[in-house]
Amino acid sequence: NRIQALKLPAHISVKPTQLGLDLSQDLCLAQLTALVAHAAKVGTFVSIDMEGSPYVDRTLELYRRLRPQHPNVGVCLQAYLYRTPDDLDGLSPLQPTIRLVKGAYNEPANVAFPKKRDVDQRYLELAQRLLAATPRPPQPHGFGTHDVNLIERICTHARASGIPTSAFELQMLFGIRGADQVRLAQAGHAMRVLISYGSYWFPWYMRRLAERPANVWFVVRSMFS
Ligand SMILES: Cc1cc2nc3c(=O)[nH]c(=O)nc-3n(C[C@H](O)[C@H](O)[C@H](O)COP(=O)(O)OP(=O)(O)OC[C@H]3O[C@@H](n4cnc5c(N)ncnc54)[C@H](O)[C@@H]3O)c2cc1C
Repeated sequence: NRIQALKLPAHISVKPTQLGLDLSQDLCLAQLTALVAHAAKVGTFVSIDMEGSPYVDRTLELYRRLRPQHPNVGVCLQAYLYRTPDDLDGLSPLQPTIRLVKGAYNEPANVAFPKKRDVDQRYLELAQRLLAATPRPPQPHGFGTHDVNLIERICTHARASGIPTSAFELQMLFGIRGADQVRLAQAGHAMRVLISYGSYWFPWYMRRLAERPANVWFVVRSMFS
């Protein structure tokens, strides 16, 4: 409601476990359905986060149940999981809006690529597949990464293939690579910034910082630049 009142071009991002997935799939679906229906009324879009690998099947099932009635819902896929190309195939008939990320959880080597180089390569391949898929979904796909080299490779591919910048958004976390966010937006890209909202913003932000020891320095530096 505040997004509507303030006329913000903002979307909502939620983790299914915050909406009861650990208690029951039906409960979570009911909560998500109510949220997505209300978001449609106020003209906004809901993106479903992807959590650790034990949640992937259940999260994709939620998405499969929601998407046919609700064009204003998207789901996140993680490039580090071996299964993701197959998941993308399975979702394709739904004309899904995907937020593609590398993946943030500590996954075992039989589930996810342990090496960054492999994750980056898989990310690029998946991004290219998303950009090639037609018809395009109502809300463009989002590339959620701070990896500016990877972003450059994706943009170069899009340009070379005649894919318009309106076919995708770039997404980063608030406070990380702020100068690049401005630069990319000025270059004509849709740049969406993820910010935590509500009383639990502090633990959420601390977890993001803890993901990378270098983060504390990044944040301190960005406060003064
Ligand atoms: C909008 C958005 C939504 C996300 N949603 C999910 C989700 O639903 N599920 C999920 O598993 N993961 C999610 N993630 C996290 C994602 O999976 C990665 O863990 C995270 O983005 C770091 O990887 P990277 O792609 O930025 O590349 P990396 O290769 O890790 O980083 C590239 C470069 O970016 C900079 N950088 C990256 N991360 C940080 C940081 N935290 N602080 C400071 N500098 C940094 C560094 O310079 C680094 O060298 C999301 C990320 C974004 C941006």
